Amino acid sequence: MSTQKTQSTASRIWARWMAVPLWMQILIGMILGILVGAALGEQATSLKPIGSLFVNTIQMLIVPLVFCSLIVGVTSMQDTSKMGRIGFKSFVFYLATTSIAITIGLMVGGLLQPGVGLNMVHDGATQAVKEAPSVVDTLINIVPTNPVAALASGKILQVIVFAVALGISLVLIGERGKPAIAVFESLAEAMFKLTDMVMKLAPYGVFGLMAWVAGEYGLDMLMPLIKVVIAVYIGCALHILGFYSLILTTVAKLNPIKFFKGIRNAMAVAFTTSSSAGTLPASMKCANESLGINKKISSFVLPLGTTINMDGTALYQGVTALFVAQAFGIDLTWVEYVTIILTATLASIGTAGVPGAGLVMLTLVLTTVGLPLEGVAIIAGIDRVLDMARTAVNVSGDLVATTVIAKSEGELDEVQYNASTDKTA
Ligand code: ASP
Repeated sequence: MSTQKTQSTASRIWARWMAVPLWMQILIGMILGILVGAALGEQATSLKPIGSLFVNTIQMLIVPLVFCSLIVGVTSMQDTSKMGRIGFKSFVFYLATTSIAITIGLMVGGLLQPGVGLNMVHDGATQAVKEAPSVVDTLINIVPTNPVAALASGKILQVIVFAVALGISLVLIGERGKPAIAVFESLAEAMFKLTDMVMKLAPYGVFGLMAWVAGEYGLDMLMPLIKVVIAVYIGCALHILGFYSLILTTVAKLNPIKFFKGIRNAMAVAFTTSSSAGTLPASMKCANESLGINKKISSFVLPLGTTINMDGTALYQGVTALFVAQAFGIDLTWVEYVTIILTATLASIGTAGVPGAGLVMLTLVLTTVGLPLEGVAIIAGIDRVLDMARTAVNVSGDLVATTVIAKSEGELDEVQYNASTDKTA
């Protein structure tokens, strides 16, 4: 009788726990991990395997996720000639702004140095830091001699290059490419689902790793995490208010204040949902009804941006990759900085516009430059707070691109733009 009662209490508690939103579960996992780790001290090391299991599970996702979603991202560009031209413009614009975003992230991370003084020790279980290869070698090596070997050994940059090339070829062969594209779309969908399932394990993985970190390093680790949040928010503010305003004023000759007024609603949805894909309907409405962008442009450039343009995510990866390097006392060479910029820019193409996707992609960036993956789990505890800011940047970046491209194509109603206040609210 009493076992039955215990069982039903346990299942009630479990049902309640499952009803808690994932980001909050992760936060709870982090806080409990810190408390348990601080209480157990050195003994908390025994909880680390739970965290390592989670890190391995995330790693399992990287290659297939990047490969399939990148192909889907590239093939989502249509092949008619106008679409081709606008697609090309968007692609170049997206890549350029993303690499600037990550550079801002690296600069802010370098100035604020959130990880310095954490003195964490890498146990070598994941990936050891290698001798830095020369620039020429790095460039030559991004083209795989054997794509299957690149996939099998997880050489991400090579996988990205091959996926982009294959995606472009599939578009170029037209009708005959459609069956293969459908297969990749279905596989990408399955990988998103799997990511979703793996992320459900995050609260426990984060618990294990935070307990280990807090046990080993004490509570001194809290301050650096707060600094990461501050650094990411400062970087995002600089990118939106500084860089985007500059582009709107100089390239499109438009008033940025009108722009920000017009996109308030989409920004709010992005910030609260942490999903640029989920924000797409709100962005469309802002683009058409507040900014005066012709639907012909917005219905192509915005979904493309939602799939491939992630300035906020790239910026966050810059800050957090530096944080991890600083926390483990690893000095990065400038080749590694360039590699981070390149990988994060290309990885942003393969990042899905859903909550937490950027965290999975962070493992990719860390792996490429040989930084310890334990860093991902440390960041995971505060990831939702960072996700809110980076998603708002992602969405406004898509809208900036759409505005600039609409203007260059003569598809922007400037009277409507200048009258712009957020009519969608
Ligand atoms: N949540 C982000 C977005 O939807 C992606 C990310 O996790 O960085 O844009």
